[in-house]
Amino acid sequence: MTTEVSVTIHGCRGSHPVSGEQFCKYGGATPCVSVKAGDHEVIFDAGSGIIDYGRKLLGDALSRGESVTRTILFSHAHFDHLNGLPYFAPMFHPESTLYLLGPRSHRFSSFEETIEHLIQTPYFPVALHEMQAVKFFDDISESNVVYFLHDSPEPLTVRAAHPAHADAVPADDEVAVKISCMRGLNHPKSGVNIYKVEAYGRTVVYATDTEGYVHGDQRLADFSRGADLLIHDAMYTEEHYTGMPVPTQGYGHSTVQIAARLASMADVGQLCLFHHDPKSTDAILDEVGNIGRSQFEHTVVARDGLTIEL
Ligand SMILES: [Zn+2]
Ligand SMILES: [Zn+2]
Repeated sequence: MTTEVSVTIHGCRGSHPVSGEQFCKYGGATPCVSVKAGDHEVIFDAGSGIIDYGRKLLGDALSRGESVTRTILFSHAHFDHLNGLPYFAPMFHPESTLYLLGPRSHRFSSFEETIEHLIQTPYFPVALHEMQAVKFFDDISESNVVYFLHDSPEPLTVRAAHPAHADAVPADDEVAVKISCMRGLNHPKSGVNIYKVEAYGRTVVYATDTEGYVHGDQRLADFSRGADLLIHDAMYTEEHYTGMPVPTQGYGHSTVQIAARLASMADVGQLCLFHHDPKSTDAILDEVGNIGRSQFEHTVVARDGLTIEL
């Protein structure tokens, strides 16, 4: 059994996909990240980056005579984090098993209902229930911890802090992957789930669509403390954030400076700058990387296809 942990970026662009020669280096797909830990793999968000990835997952599985079983954890339901889901090939395959976990929003009674409203006519020709994969949904909030046991691809969601659920918490030696959730309250208008993956002695935090506070986000710094990798929103340049043409303060996204400061506060091993503004060309993102590294040495700029071994 392998115990290697790696993270692959399939999409890292915020708001909407982009294409064109000025975006070739970092890519134009919207958020999708997969974390491989031993025999397990968990996907975060289903932006347009999940489309090519889904075709590959299904193609590889079919060529081995197998089917696809995967869990997708959603940060929130903004379009850029969902726009690949209706085109995720395993959703259409009758032998797929998909676990779709995400936050309940204010408007709908469950995460499942949120997705049902998106994938239906007249917005899309196929309704969610017509997609042939076996689908399991669950609402995830700060109370929940998601476990993957060594011998099962199925997520086990437990209200781990509640004494009545103590018996449901698996023993440490049974757990291959543990995923905790922190609610980020600084993203309009329903907040965002920030996730921490702990597996085989490695820790990754996925903190997209989050905006820092004066003195830094203390809860996020505590949540991320000592992580090997922090994937953090760095959508805006300082100029966007404070000036031209309209300041983007309060839009629920960070600058590279905010991300680098949080990485220092949390004493993480590596920072990955994520959720790039659609107007940020390769040249701008090269400069964003330089600024990031000048403030936090171990900084990389997310690009589609990048794999980080931990
Ligand atoms: Zn977003
Ligand atoms: Zn958002």
